[in-house]
Amino acid sequence: MPVNKNIYDVIIIGCGSVGNPTAYQLAEAGLSVLAIDRRSSAGQGDNKTAIGGVRATHSDPGKISTCLYSIDIFSSWNEKYGFDIGWKPGGYCFPVYDQDIESTLKSLIPYQKECGMKIDWVDAETIKNIIPGINENDLRGGTYSPDDGQVSSILAPIAFQKEAEKNGAVYLFNERVTGYERKGDRIVGVITDKGKYYAEWVVLAAGSDAAEHGPMLGIDIPVTPDAHEAGISAPVEHFLAPLIVDLRAGVDGKTSNFYFGQNKEGQIIFCYTPKDLFIGTDRESLSEFLPILARRMVSLIPRLKNLLIRRIWRGCYPMSPDGVPIIDYAPGIEGLILAVGMCGQGLMLGPGVGKNITSMITSGCSCISSEAQNCFRYDRDFYQKETETLK
Ligand SMILES: Cc1cc2nc3c(=O)[nH]c(=O)nc-3n(C[C@H](O)[C@H](O)[C@H](O)COP(=O)(O)OP(=O)(O)OC[C@H]3O[C@@H](n4cnc5c(N)ncnc54)[C@H](O)[C@@H]3O)c2cc1C
Repeated sequence: MPVNKNIYDVIIIGCGSVGNPTAYQLAEAGLSVLAIDRRSSAGQGDNKTAIGGVRATHSDPGKISTCLYSIDIFSSWNEKYGFDIGWKPGGYCFPVYDQDIESTLKSLIPYQKECGMKIDWVDAETIKNIIPGINENDLRGGTYSPDDGQVSSILAPIAFQKEAEKNGAVYLFNERVTGYERKGDRIVGVITDKGKYYAEWVVLAAGSDAAEHGPMLGIDIPVTPDAHEAGISAPVEHFLAPLIVDLRAGVDGKTSNFYFGQNKEGQIIFCYTPKDLFIGTDRESLSEFLPILARRMVSLIPRLKNLLIRRIWRGCYPMSPDGVPIIDYAPGIEGLILAVGMCGQGLMLGPGVGKNITSMITSGCSCISSEAQNCFRYDRDFYQKETETLK
């Protein structure tokens, strides 16, 4: 616990998908933690717009190893703390109808396995069992990773905050960080619209707003929000174990990939990636979303035609230029860690990022391999892109 209420070991800016599980892990490691958010409670930024998919099925070692840690934390939470965060095992399944997508996914499997993932190519018959009622025409098979799963983006923040507070973390809401205090090359604290707080370490986990901190810090933070829509149905009888990703571009000409699953409450929760991105932070839903989505979903699983949709929403992916986060010590500023640019995967990366940051602070190095950590470096070449399909 801090001796002076304005002095902490670590200040975290942003209590979202990343900042909140980071606060929990730093506090559990015995550090005094202050977590500040401009919104009114934890997880109210883009965190709550996530549909809950948690997978280690990626194509780069940084995301794979980080998400393996996240899966471990999410899947064992209820047993460890007796708090249900909506974890639903059942894996991820990428059904495939297209030769090129088949080749891409198959080419990734040996490396994904080498990184510790359980994943295999399965034939069309197996896919039909995994996804009851799937359109069988031209179905070639697909990948299945049974250890992936889903979590509630509404319940997880409550759980992380509760455990962080038990370990002494302090949360301040409705308070915006507006500047930083520095002593030479070292950051020593943050300035908010309500006060000043000091710490040895500051973690910037400001999601879609991260770039705004660049001018305050004198560095470029290359994060650009782009808007994505999602929706949820009324509950139906459980029939779908995995979260499904259809990587084909839609015949609608408007969508690239499309993904959905059935959550623990039985609701179908869904999202697509628009072909032309909507750059910016406009969170108004578009009238075209549901008709386009419904056609895609019903053409893949015709039995979903009677689904009753409850609501739709729009949130932002905090995008880095190459679709991979920046998790690194800030260049030329001692005591500052950047945890930004989570793209469409901040919820699944969050707990693993928190574990990594805790290791960076307590032991001076990352807890993932240097090959994996290199993916997240601030000074990498942002224009050498990850395999487009698994972003
Ligand atoms: C439709 C949709 C579906 C998605 N589905 C998934 C999914 O299934 N799985 C998945 O892993 N990801 C998913 N995502 C992506 C995920 O939501 C984001 O990657 C993630 O929320 C980003 O986490 P973050 O912690 O960086 O940002 P946030 O969760 O937005 O947290 C950042 C916080 O910082 C605060 N903040 C910012 N600036 C300041 C300041 N100056 N002072 C104080 N506080 C500040 C904000 O208020 C906010 O609470 C989805 C996104 C969308 C839009």
